Amino acid sequence: MYKEALRPVWAEINLSNFDYNVKQIRAKIGPDREFIGVIKADAYGHGAIQCAQVLRENGVKTFAIATLQEAITLREAGAQERIICLGLTPDMYADTLVQYGITPVVCESGNAKAINDAAAAAGVTVDCLIAVDTGMGRIGYLADDTEYAVEDVKKIAALPNIRIFGLFSHMATADAYDKTFSHEQEARYIRFYEALTAAGIYVPFRTLANSASIMELPTVHYDGCRPGIILYGQYPSHEVDRNAFHIKPVMQVKANIVHLKDVPVGFSCGYGRKFIAQRPSRIATIALGYADGYPRPYSAQAKVIVNGVVCPIAGNICMDQCMIDVTDVPEVHVGDEVIVMGTDGVNTIDADYIADATGTINYEITCAFGQRLPKVFVK
Ligand SMILES: *Cc1c(COP(=O)(O)O)cnc(C)c1O
Repeated sequence: MYKEALRPVWAEINLSNFDYNVKQIRAKIGPDREFIGVIKADAYGHGAIQCAQVLRENGVKTFAIATLQEAITLREAGAQERIICLGLTPDMYADTLVQYGITPVVCESGNAKAINDAAAAAGVTVDCLIAVDTGMGRIGYLADDTEYAVEDVKKIAALPNIRIFGLFSHMATADAYDKTFSHEQEARYIRFYEALTAAGIYVPFRTLANSASIMELPTVHYDGCRPGIILYGQYPSHEVDRNAFHIKPVMQVKANIVHLKDVPVGFSCGYGRKFIAQRPSRIATIALGYADGYPRPYSAQAKVIVNGVVCPIAGNICMDQCMIDVTDVPEVHVGDEVIVMGTDGVNTIDADYIADATGTINYEITCAFGQRLPKVFVK
């Protein structure tokens, strides 16, 4: 239990493992490429400020986030590095973007003009990345419509307070076993880049690779790579080759038992009475619930580790608490540690297990745990 957590439940963030992952990624992409640490959503729930510090200690000079607020949080914590905002910035926030020195992604000259005007008013020049949609279908110039795109990018290039710093796109299926579509995206990216160059638009920096591409698509590493999920020791999917790239999970979720009781046959637990004791049972309560990112649809398959024994959750997970059937644990006391996600060296419950049981991906599991749980950083 940690006094500073103010709760008998916490996300334990292992910064040594994070550091290990950063070094693995650096070795994979080589010493000369820009390493863009993707620390959006509070570093996928792991704590952006602390993760940024480890990245910094490893020589990383560029971070990527998703929202302006995330960028401001980093700046207010003292970050001097380049911070790329991966989402589009609506015109009305252009002044804030400029004020905090954030590098935007743009794909429309009107939006670029708004940012240019804010930059001019502040007497600065803003670097931006041009977004091209090569197959993600999310943001960016349509890669195949180079005629329109080149004309519009020319308008951006002519803006005095904007400098086109790079070309950006995002992979849709790099984590799939079949890389056919990824190679199509790669070809579109190159064609688009060449169309800009042919029109006299100089683009000094190219970035396309996410985690899965870092692992399995070396031809798209270009000038900078954008690792996200692998920083946190999670693989981007079940289809990538886990044996070819070693990383260590950074987040564990732990709790202490706050309440313990022995109950008779027929005793029920939780909303909807989904657990009914079939034998005299011992039930433990922990103060972790779905508002902490412990998914309610996980209830029936949820298991935790108590004193070396894997135990099921009893009934539905509540908003802020849940119950554990600890009947099979030989010795158990109030205060004993419960591993909700993580390992005791013998048994493991990982983010992939929780994700598979709830129809989602490990990304969503760590992001959700990061929302309300106190974080305890260990080395
Ligand atoms: C989230 C994100 C990344 C990182 O993706 P991972 O799969 O976590 O490596 C890279 N680029 C963009 C644009 C993103 O939105």
